[in-house]
Amino acid sequence: MAVPKRKVSPSRFGMRRSHEALRAESNAECPNCGELKRPHHVCASCGYYDGREVAAAGKTLKGVVRT
Ligand SMILES: [Zn+2]
Repeated sequence: MAVPKRKVSPSRFGMRRSHEALRAESNAECPNCGELKRPHHVCASCGYYDGREVAAAGKTLKGVVRT
């Protein structure tokens, strides 16, 4: 039985891939210590969120913003 060698053309493949680029991660400034942190996340350097301390300061948290 004959089988198509390439079903999707390189052009179509590229069109699909046009939405798969990685974006630069967004940072927000911590209102407590001024350090860059991820938006809507606990600050990794002071442990503050929404004006109060919710995590131990200096403790390593997941998703630390690396500068
Ligand atoms: Zn902070």
